[in-house]
Amino acid sequence: MITKKDVYRVANERLYYLFSLAFQTGDERYIDLMERIGRRMDITLPQDIKRMYCKKCKKPYKNVRVRLKKNVITVTCLECGDIRRFQINR
Ligand SMILES: [Zn+2]
Repeated sequence: MITKKDVYRVANERLYYLFSLAFQTGDERYIDLMERIGRRMDITLPQDIKRMYCKKCKKPYKNVRVRLKKNVITVTCLECGDIRRFQINR
């Protein structure tokens, strides 16, 4: 019997696989696919994936500027100029 947990596990495996493809190729189609899987399966993307691509231009973070200020990481996507800030919890 397939449980909900199995579905999540498979979905997560696919997400990580798609993300590795996205990162290798720099193709935004894979990111788009990842988001669609997330929506369809009603799961939020894992945090480590979510922080690894630009939400605006849907490209994996490769060409970025990272600045650390106190407890906040500022990531600037140099492809589209989008700025995101992440709080570090200590
Ligand atoms: Zn961007």
